[in-house]
Amino acid sequence: MTRPVPRPGVLAIEPYVPGKSGAPGTGRVFKLSANETPLGPSPAAVQALRDMAHEIALYPEGSSAALREAIGERYGLDPARIIMGAGSDNILELLAVAFIGPGEEGLYSQYGFLEYKIVTLAAGGVPVVAPEANFTADVDAILERVTEKTRIVFLANPNNPTGSYLPTREVERLAKGLPAHTLLVLDAAYAEYVTRPDYEAGIALVDAHENVVMTRTFSKIYGLAGLRLGWGYASAHVIDALNRIRSPFNVSSAASVAGIAAVQDMAHIDAAIAHNEKWLPWLTRKISGLGLEVLPSVGNFIAIRFPETPGRTSAEADRFLTSRGLVLRAIGAYGMGDFLRLTIGSQEANEAVVAALGEFMAGAKAAANG
Ligand SMILES: *Cc1c(COP(=O)(O)O)cnc(C)c1O
Repeated sequence: MTRPVPRPGVLAIEPYVPGKSGAPGTGRVFKLSANETPLGPSPAAVQALRDMAHEIALYPEGSSAALREAIGERYGLDPARIIMGAGSDNILELLAVAFIGPGEEGLYSQYGFLEYKIVTLAAGGVPVVAPEANFTADVDAILERVTEKTRIVFLANPNNPTGSYLPTREVERLAKGLPAHTLLVLDAAYAEYVTRPDYEAGIALVDAHENVVMTRTFSKIYGLAGLRLGWGYASAHVIDALNRIRSPFNVSSAASVAGIAAVQDMAHIDAAIAHNEKWLPWLTRKISGLGLEVLPSVGNFIAIRFPETPGRTSAEADRFLTSRGLVLRAIGAYGMGDFLRLTIGSQEANEAVVAALGEFMAGAKAAANG
């Protein structure tokens, strides 16, 4: 060897490619590619950030105690069983590094969030994929693939990019079906958006099972994606393991202070939920009405399927929408190349998307007929 070589697994990782954020040459741009909230952050969080700006020469308090207290208060949890991370991606990484050894397995479902594969490989582990039915995780298929080497089962609930979810009784069946040495990681990044009575983010399951972890984020409904802030809730022994490998200052003082203000601003979250409840069904209905398949979603985004007909494909739709300043997310990396994922945006953005998709489909029809 003539130069340092990363250990096995590292170069097998396909780097995560984030959605585009701009549309060159267009005026007004709506970024609808990363499931960010159109309502922006809580004004209280912005103010708290301004007020602490002069303190950034100092290291943060390493355990994010004040923020864990605030989260504990808000969700009725013991702050000692919460760990903060630089985004929930950070928590997923810590879980993989702490629990998956070389040759051991990280298991997730077919259209599951791509980060699970990345963190499994980064830990030296082997990614194992369970097939889905109807773009929804299949508990039996997951359980069938559990071996004595399975260290973590990752489940995004609801899942990104499909928008599908598993009801509590199914997640319970999954938790009960796993061997005691296998961790179940419930990634509830979109939990706040779900209004179904048969859904739970995972708090009760964590309390009932020593091997269940729930991860949450401030990047989605809380509107703090740029600050990088997420958390995990688990039994004490899991939190203890993660704290041992966490870097001592993994959460910035700015993120902590904004997070405290954000988690206390219930009115802002309620407004975001109400906005989503209005526009998620509206977009689903309007876009389905154009003859496009829309996967039923409980999150703040929808996956739209385009036909293979030349002139109407997802790649052509992507180009057309981008030329109108509407930036969606191609999800070919998930094996969903005929789909685009659309984040529920502002009223103006949503109306612009429906109008542009209407034009796109009509133009394609005109071309097909002509
Ligand atoms: C966006 C998202 C996250 C959040 O990632 P952060 O690192 O907290 O920004 C986690 N899981 C899923 C499924 C997501 O879509």
